[in-house]
Amino acid sequence: MNPFDLSGQVAVITGANTGIGQAIALALAQAGADIAAVGRTPATETIGQVQALGRRAINIAADLSSTAPIAQVVSQAESQLGGIDILVNNAGIIRRADAVEFSEADWDAVVDTNLKTLFFLSQAVARGMIGKGRGKIIHIASLLSFQGGIRVPAYTAAKSGVAGLTKAMANEWSAKGINVNAIAPGYIETNNTEALRADPVRSRQILERIPAGRWGAPSDIGGAAVFLASRASDYVHGHVLPVDGGWLGR
Ligand code: NAP
Repeated sequence: MNPFDLSGQVAVITGANTGIGQAIALALAQAGADIAAVGRTPATETIGQVQALGRRAINIAADLSSTAPIAQVVSQAESQLGGIDILVNNAGIIRRADAVEFSEADWDAVVDTNLKTLFFLSQAVARGMIGKGRGKIIHIASLLSFQGGIRVPAYTAAKSGVAGLTKAMANEWSAKGINVNAIAPGYIETNNTEALRADPVRSRQILERIPAGRWGAPSDIGGAAVFLASRASDYVHGHVLPVDGGWLGR
């Protein structure tokens, strides 16, 4: 028996149309999972790639900047794919401004999407998982779950909150058969880091500080997601796993 096998499992992934979410969807599908891609932009490309692997894939339209679509997301995944075994809370936004200038609107947008929706979607999915006595919940945290960052106060607050919630949820749900863990990606080449990569000074400074000597690719996150979604991690609870090319150790 392959402990990383996800055959017959249904994974719900938010923000799977691009970047890290898309790479996680493909990695989980390669391990055997069927995929529900949840987001405001249709995950057409991801769905095609998952189906090409022989897995089922559906799109669930939802704007996760509020909790409004959560009940519909869960019911659609359950009715179309037969239940939720794995939830990956990946959707997130970043807003950059000096702390003395940072607006309340940007604060609310970041915290609502990256933290509030993550909590209430997990809550809704966990209710079903508790009924079955098993499930895997994976949050996408950040290096800013550990560090302060520069010009991203709301993002740092939200991602630090995600690290706290990973432990809080694990404390309540581990004994009910649910593994709650998080992945903290380092600097990955996606839309999220486009502004950093376009700034030659910041881009060089970041690259020089990464022990692995390169930025991460979205596919670098896939293996950690498969591990945390599979039986291989059944006794791993409340952990935030950095996948960062060694950044935090430096
Ligand atoms: P990305 O390409 O910008 O992907 C973000 C995803 O979240 C997109 O699918 C986006 O959909 C979705 N999303 C944002 N707001 C949404 C909303 N209101 N409703 C539904 N979906 C929404 O960036 P990424 O780097 O792959 O980000 C994925 C996760 O990794 C985020 O949580 C991010 O904070 C985290 N992360 C990234 C890095 C990095 O270096 N890239 C490092 C640490 C953590 P749209 O395409 O419609 O906008």
